[in-house]
Amino acid sequence: MGSDDHDHPKDLHIQADGSEEYRGPWVVESDDSLNANHSGTVCVHEGATFQIGPRGTLSGSLTLQSGSTARIDGKVAGSLTVASGAIAEITGDQSGSVTVDRGGLVRVHPGGKLAGSLVVAGLVENRGVRGGSVQIRGGEIQDLDGGSEKQPTRTTDGSSIYVW
Ligand SMILES: [Zn+2]
Repeated sequence: MGSDDHDHPKDLHIQADGSEEYRGPWVVESDDSLNANHSGTVCVHEGATFQIGPRGTLSGSLTLQSGSTARIDGKVAGSLTVASGAIAEITGDQSGSVTVDRGGLVRVHPGGKLAGSLVVAGLVENRGVRGGSVQIRGGEIQDLDGGSEKQPTRTTDGSSIYVW
């Protein structure tokens, strides 16, 4: 295991002066937390728990490798990928596409929100609210204990949008 089984592509960041800079992701190897704003990719490795506190906002993608855990009490504005054997506990706000591999688990708690397209080969337990397109790839979404699915609003031009 370890980091040999996947790549850590660099993100392109545009500076305030217009110059470009490539930065590697924040690799979480042991328990860590985010309690402020952070822009960029985060990769959580096996055995580690990454917590986004109520005042934390991640602008970028979050990847949970097999055997890792994330607690999202704050906000993620970006994609979330949950590998087999990884768990995402969401009491906050996940705004962006979510991909759950077979054997991965996303648990949305009361007050939590999933806003974005879902690709589910694993399990999503929704006790909060979710909205977005859904692709089931052999997985399952369970709306439990008052968990709900937000319906899109149809606009005058016939497209549908989610109003949160
Ligand atoms: Zn990694």
